Amino acid sequence: MVLEFTPRGIYCPAGDFYVDPWRPVGRALITHGHADHARPGHAHYLATSAAAPVMRHRLGDIALETVGYGETRRIGGARVSFHPAGHVPGSAQIRVEVGGEVWVVSGDYKTRADRLSEPFEPLRCHAFISECTFGLPVFKWPAEEEAAKEINRWWARNAAQGLFSLLGAYALGKAQRVLSVLDPATGPILTHGAVEATNAVLRGQGVALPETIHVTPEMRAKDYPGALVLAPPGAFATAWARRFRPAETGFASGWMRLRGVRRRRGVDRGFVISDHADWDGLNHAIAATGAENICVTHGYTDIFARWLTSQGYNARVVPTQFNGEDGAATAEDGEHG
Ligand SMILES: [Zn+2]
Ligand SMILES: [Zn+2]
Repeated sequence: MVLEFTPRGIYCPAGDFYVDPWRPVGRALITHGHADHARPGHAHYLATSAAAPVMRHRLGDIALETVGYGETRRIGGARVSFHPAGHVPGSAQIRVEVGGEVWVVSGDYKTRADRLSEPFEPLRCHAFISECTFGLPVFKWPAEEEAAKEINRWWARNAAQGLFSLLGAYALGKAQRVLSVLDPATGPILTHGAVEATNAVLRGQGVALPETIHVTPEMRAKDYPGALVLAPPGAFATAWARRFRPAETGFASGWMRLRGVRRRRGVDRGFVISDHADWDGLNHAIAATGAENICVTHGYTDIFARWLTSQGYNARVVPTQFNGEDGAATAEDGEHG
């Protein structure tokens, strides 16, 4: 086995390292900076140089070695390289080769290009460990221009009616992607601290984003009429958001494709914009690997593994720490969407 599934996470015996482990280990190869992949407590980290600034921002003073996309490293008996996953800036798939056998760990991925993330690179391999957060046919993403138009129209209408537009988006990746499609002519763009801190890190590495205004405690909301306020979804239930009244609320996520989730979230508007592959994206990416063996993780794993088996793959579910019965419900929390 090139890679094994252990209680600490995905393990490579030939190289004695783990990929995105969820318990502290000696050597961790990290696909990207989201909290369910880049965890604190490992003795040694390896990640792309593009993911490093966010990881340092989130994890503090860690022993982090970086590698460029496509650069090969020998670790013990394994050859490893990182390749763009198209998920968020700096995100990678990790290719591991041992004795001529190639396994690829996708991490989180998105096959459609945006303007911020390094575009997804299809890799040939013998075994592919694929996330399947949105592994149901109902998940089909509209073109990004459509979602962008909807968000801008919603914002303009709210502003014309004297309403703030409170838009929820995960701080790393989604928030910047939303920012990149906003029409700044509509009004000021205000940001929650978690979003602004990540903006600063990404701007520092050359990602171009429109001008944003960080919301500070002394700031008076009425000085920014018609503003769009970008914040992690959790911030809307807090006192922080209450100063922006009256307001319409929205949430930008692939989960907004499901009416039940929209209702549960209690937002006025859902915008279907995801940093993950949709159903077609997953199927195309898997076919392009040429792999016979597919291990699925995150999301609708049982259903998706059955689907892949019916398509002639040798598919299995990878145990993760998210072994809840409803994979979707657990994945929906955190930064998966
Ligand atoms: Zn992620
Ligand atoms: Zn994830």
